Formats: sequence, structure tokens, C-alpha cells
Amino acid sequence: MSVYTTMVSPDCGCDDTALVAPLMTVSDALETGLAMVAKVEATETVPLHLARGRILARPVQAQADMPGFDNSGMDGYALCTKDLIPGRALVLPVQAVSAAGDAVVPLVSGTAMRIYTGAPVPQGADAVVMQEQTDREGDRITLTRRPEPGENIRRQGEDMRRTDRVLDAGRLLDPKAIAACAGAGVGQVDVWRKLKVALVLTGDELTKAGEPLQGGAIWDVNTPMLCSLIECGWAGVTEIRQVADDRAAMIAALDELAGRVDMIVTSGGVSVGDRDHVKPALAALGAKIGVSGVAIKPGKPITLSALGDTMVVSLPGNPVSAFVTWVVFGAPIAARMAGLTGAGLTGAGLTGAGHTRRHVRADQALRHKPGRCEYRPARISGYGSDGLEVVTTGTRTHSAQLGPLAEADGLVLIPAGVDCLNQDDLMEFLPFQA
Ligand code: AMP
Ligand code: MG
Repeated sequence: MSVYTTMVSPDCGCDDTALVAPLMTVSDALETGLAMVAKVEATETVPLHLARGRILARPVQAQADMPGFDNSGMDGYALCTKDLIPGRALVLPVQAVSAAGDAVVPLVSGTAMRIYTGAPVPQGADAVVMQEQTDREGDRITLTRRPEPGENIRRQGEDMRRTDRVLDAGRLLDPKAIAACAGAGVGQVDVWRKLKVALVLTGDELTKAGEPLQGGAIWDVNTPMLCSLIECGWAGVTEIRQVADDRAAMIAALDELAGRVDMIVTSGGVSVGDRDHVKPALAALGAKIGVSGVAIKPGKPITLSALGDTMVVSLPGNPVSAFVTWVVFGAPIAARMAGLTGAGLTGAGLTGAGHTRRHVRADQALRHKPGRCEYRPARISGYGSDGLEVVTTGTRTHSAQLGPLAEADGLVLIPAGVDCLNQDDLMEFLPFQA
């Protein structure tokens, strides 16, 4: 049994220059792409109930102490523990009531006050005894145990203090964060404007799914697949162009979209064939090309460039290649452009696969041709005796086969230098998120 890779870096050891001379490593390519990003600068203010999935542009501060006053954590009786004299019966008369929403009132010395969850603890009380630990007869209670000072009291400010920074800028507004905003008294938030993404599809063979196929036509998988990968709270597909396999048409489409959207995602035509026009078109437009070919399988032709401030992510046409290269490169680059930072970037669900990695075990021995770091669709099939997940993968990646991808729970990563792994070996796993 061996552990052949680390959890921390997407670098998968593909630096064996003898094997992959002109190709960049996955980590170098990702770093290069992230460094090319022009971040969205505009912000907008949205009410909290519409903020889910947006990215905070400014930190959120607590507007008041939370809770705002000492209050009861239980339905029961508020009292002062000093009124319970050692050696005497634990009996107190009950006077008055404190319910949620009431103002703070003083406790009459030597008495208990009926109190409900969330109600202000009366001045002079230092404990709340839960109802279940009392016997009530008329206006008197007998306690079944002696309470400790402080018991069942939620103290003012114990959750948040006024002016505490509750959330940092760059944070994804998920339901937990939205709850924290509301708890902090913040009813609207400043968020980065949504990332505008254009899709440019190439391939004269493409026909819309659902329409009849003629001749050598195939159904267009990437348009709906990429739309569903990209669309989220902080990014939207604002334009979709189907471009003929023609260089002038590709130049015109890219030129027209550059500057109008934040990111152009092209699909297909990024290889080196005569009918692959994406790279020549980018060159003709003077694009700054940062990455052109990566030691990754599938998806070797992935190309990352910029037309002015517009980032261009050029994915190969094979649907599995497009999926994997979007997840590995496109999604984190889009997230960085949209303003997501730090922990958010790894935990944000990155439109398809989170970049939260974990170790899983292989359910069978696997062979791999060394040279490129491979991302293979994998399904969690059980748990090992140590509690780690066991995954089933195909014996190789088929970049055009969508059946195994649909069944997958994530991608396993096989580093470039590895030629085989044994059953039970640890592998890195990138889980997909719904
Ligand atoms: P390309 O990257 O243009 O060389 O395309 C590689 C393979 O992916 C070819 O078999 C194409 O027919 C196929 N392909 C390209 N675009 C799509 C698409 N949008 N949907 C499904 N398959 C595609
Ligand atoms: Mg093509």
C-alpha cells in the first residue's frame, strides 16, 4: 500500500521534461491562468434574501451585540442562587413572568420568576433552572437539584460583539453566511457584480440535442453542459455563439465579444488540426497567450489567454475533456475573477466540482501511461475498514464517453509519473458538488 501524492498542491509531479517537454504542469498552468485575471471591480447592493450565491465585496460587521441582552436558554425559572440557603429546602415563591419580547425587569429578592426561552433574564437573577428540574405547586416551586450560577443564561455579546467582523470580503454568501448577516443585523450586502461569461461553440457537426441528426452530425453536449457548469449565483452565461469551423468567423466572434464580457469560454477547435481555428484566431487578434497545452489527461490542448481584460478559456471539444478542464482551470479562474478569495475559493462548489480534495482508496489495480496527470471520473462504491471511501473508476478515461461521467461522484487524480497503482492505494479525489 502506498501514498504517492500529497493533498496540498494540484501539482501532480508532471515535471518530467523528458516525457512532457513542451507541456506545462497542471499547477504551473493554473497559477499562470490565475495570474492573468482582471478582477471584476463593480459592486452592487442586494437585499439579504436575494444574496445567496453572491460574493461579498465588503466585510460584514455586527451592528449590535448578539445576543443584545442576557436571556434564557430554557423554559424554566430565573432566580438568584444566593437565595437558596445551604441545608434548607430548595423552595422559592414564584412572582412575575418574563417572556420573549418583554423588557428587562428586576427580580424580587427571595423569589423565582417564570421565564421562557429567549426572554430577558431579570436583573438580580444569576441562573435559570429548567422547568423539568422543578415541581410546581400553586405559586411555589421546589427544585430537584441545586443550580450553578450562570446556568442556562445566554450572555449578551457571547455570539458577536458590536463592530466584530463577522464575514470577510471575498466570502461566498451561502446559507450559513446569510444567517450570520441577519444575526449581525445586516439586511443588505455589497457584493461583486456577477461575472459575464460568453460561450463560443465551434464544430460544423453540432446539432442541438433533441433535433434529428443528419449525415455526420452529432448532438451538441457542451452548450448545455457548460451552461450548467458556469451558471451560479456569481456567474452567468450572457451570450452563446455557435461559430462555423472558419477562421474569419472565429476572429469576428472573439473580437466582437472581447471587452463586452469578462470571460469567453470556447469549446472545440483548440487543437492543431487544419480545422482548429481558435488559436490562430487568438493570435490574429493579438491575444496574450499564457497557457497553450498542459500535461493533463483528458484535455491536453487547454489554452488560457486574454484579449485585453477579457479572459479566454479555450476548452477541447470532447465533452469529458471540456468538463475536466473547466473544473480544473476554468472554474477557479472564473471564481478569482468574480472576487472569491481564500477559503471561499476552495470551498465554494466552483460550479461543478469543489477544489476540496480528500483521500480515497482505489477499489482495483489501475494502469496509467506516465507523462500526463490524469483526472478520471470515479464513483464512491463503499468504505474501507479505516473509514476512507473506496472508489471505482473505469480502467481508463474515455474523453468522449458521458455514461461514466454521469455516474461519477468526482474525479480521481493520477499523477503524471505513476504507471500503476494497486488495489487499496490512496488517491486524491475531487468531489463534484450538486
Ligand atoms: P475538437 O476539439 O473540435 O477537435 O473536437 C473534438 C471532438 O469533440 C470531436 O469528436 C467533436 O465532434 C467533439 N465535439 C466538439 N464539440 C462538441 C460538442 N459541443 N458536443 C459534443 N461533442 C463535441
Ligand atoms: Mg472541431
